[in-house]
Amino acid sequence: MPATLMNERDLTFMLYELFDSEALINRERYQDHDRHTFNEVVNTAKAIAEKHFLPIRQKLDTHQPTFDGKKVHLIPELKPAIDAVNEAGIASATADYDLGGMQLPPIIASAAGAYLSVAGGVGMGYNMLTTANANLLQAHGSDDLIETWVKPMREGRFMGTMAMTEPGSGSGLGDLTTKAVKADDGTYRISGNKIFISGGDHDLSENIVHLVLARLQGAPKGVKGISLFVVPKFLLKDDGSIGEDNEVALAGLFHKMGGRAQTSTALSFGERKGSIGYLVGEENAGLKYMFHMMNEARIMVGTGGAVLAVAGYQYSVDYAKNRPQGRLPSCKDPLSPMVNIIEHADVKRMLLAQKSVAEGALSLVLYGTQLSDDERTAPTQEQREHAHMLLDFLTPVIKSWPSENGPKANSYAIQVLGGHGYINEHPVEMFYRDNRLNPIHEGTTCIQSLDLLTRKVPMNKLAGYMATLAEIEKTIAIANNIEKLTGYANELNEALVTLKKTTSVLLTAMQTENIDLVLSNSVKYLELFGHVIIAWLWLKQGLVASHALAEQPHESDEHFYRGKLQALQYFYRFELPKIGVWSNILTSTDRTSFDMQAEWF
Ligand SMILES: Cc1cc2nc3c(=O)[nH]c(=O)nc-3n(C[C@H](O)[C@H](O)[C@H](O)COP(=O)(O)OP(=O)(O)OC[C@H]3O[C@@H](n4cnc5c(N)ncnc54)[C@H](O)[C@@H]3O)c2cc1C
Repeated sequence: MPATLMNERDLTFMLYELFDSEALINRERYQDHDRHTFNEVVNTAKAIAEKHFLPIRQKLDTHQPTFDGKKVHLIPELKPAIDAVNEAGIASATADYDLGGMQLPPIIASAAGAYLSVAGGVGMGYNMLTTANANLLQAHGSDDLIETWVKPMREGRFMGTMAMTEPGSGSGLGDLTTKAVKADDGTYRISGNKIFISGGDHDLSENIVHLVLARLQGAPKGVKGISLFVVPKFLLKDDGSIGEDNEVALAGLFHKMGGRAQTSTALSFGERKGSIGYLVGEENAGLKYMFHMMNEARIMVGTGGAVLAVAGYQYSVDYAKNRPQGRLPSCKDPLSPMVNIIEHADVKRMLLAQKSVAEGALSLVLYGTQLSDDERTAPTQEQREHAHMLLDFLTPVIKSWPSENGPKANSYAIQVLGGHGYINEHPVEMFYRDNRLNPIHEGTTCIQSLDLLTRKVPMNKLAGYMATLAEIEKTIAIANNIEKLTGYANELNEALVTLKKTTSVLLTAMQTENIDLVLSNSVKYLELFGHVIIAWLWLKQGLVASHALAEQPHESDEHFYRGKLQALQYFYRFELPKIGVWSNILTSTDRTSFDMQAEWF
């Protein structure tokens, strides 16, 4: 079956009808571009995806990286594929011209990246981490660090990692123990063990630039005593060429359920004299800088969850249109031809469930990506601050909603294919396995929910929370004027009432009651908030579709917009009502999980 990577019509809808990306060319930074150059980049990425990644997608999944005791080996086809991305400039598409970038808007780069992610799975993860690493250094590193490390990363000669997790310190980074000691020459000696480091070793680049969190002797305990260091795999000679080994040893490779093209490594730093590290910014402020990369990575993780949901949805729609099986309940004639399974209402239900997740999640991550652009390039200071506030507030939702719901959508894709979905002749089981990482890394769903409830909601006297509600209320007001949408506008308004009531009860309870008890259902709050946000974005999509249908579009477009309205209806009938159950659990401070004792399991 031919693989459909992304739905081009939907991507055009998202970029140009829902988010008006074309208007970005009015910003000084993007003045050299137009819709044509935007589309060219997306099409180039699609062509590379189809030519270089799609043919090796299954091989990447079935041939895990190996370590022969000296070197890590990946399948040889991966390097030319990654080189093709670098040569086309897509890996550093958003970077400044003078750093070798194309100064493209992140939303366009994200659309281009979606094709590559779907076709190459996590083969693209190496580039994404490298870009996020370079962006952090560019924002917080000294000129010297930028000159030495960012340039070769932008050129694709070096690749980057983020090295935070340790065997005893995962969700709770405050307990990390990797040591840093200041040397007389102003550099530092780093020693300790990190695990699960993605792209921590491979043969794809000349050097690997690790961004390592470590603790200086005598530093404050907890997260306030963490510093950030550049620790390269190889030191550089004075002329910038590759020098000595820097005591970053590969202690082992992890073998994984999915995401197998990207190495997951256990790294041992500085077993002899200490790996040489270069401080980023100030001592003990490392976690603050790392959040620059983590926030970017959290949008990437959400995007991964969304595009894999899109991939599974696309694949299962194509399959369902071509698989004859059974007859409708009303047909009693065994000699009548079988129907394609897309005619069965339950298959349509599972496809709608996927569509509502896939296109809802995609709209969310593209919205987040646009905010990350607006906070830097929007015309006025006020607009930039507003975008920053919204993005900062919504990051836990942008990371978690697609990550939690993407694998559920992929599970439906498997179900649509029946037994054929469970075997690796079709990629849907791989999409599920690849997607299952997303609720875990870059802060688990529970960690995101605690961040939302204890930090993001109360932050700046509820400013981000109120600004988000105001955005939703604006859409409700507009939808109230469209006859076919007033029902949804009312339902979303009721959902807002539920959200506000729940938030208010929780904020009070956090001050007055046992905090461990109040936070014991925090994930339900994140789910509730996420569902309201997705319902809002579906209403926005419904507005665009309604306006377009009123213009009596061409038949294929009419089908497209009607599909949007049907998915909107699905979300409001089948998903949004769930928030009532979650709200009851939260407002009644349900004790079920809290009261359960370890001994009772
Ligand atoms: C494939 C893969 C790639 C990764 N890539 C990287 C990378 O590149 N760099 C890097 O530094 N790390 C990376 N990680 C590590 C990842 O970020 C951690 O696995 C994750 O943060 C969870 O930490 P943990 O595995 O130690 O689980 P734990 O922290 O032990 O968590 C286990 C469970 O307990 C829950 N839990 C933990 N603490 C709390 C709490 N305070 N309250 C409520 N529940 C809690 C968690 O939600 C989770 O469900 C990667 C992991 C994987 C599997």
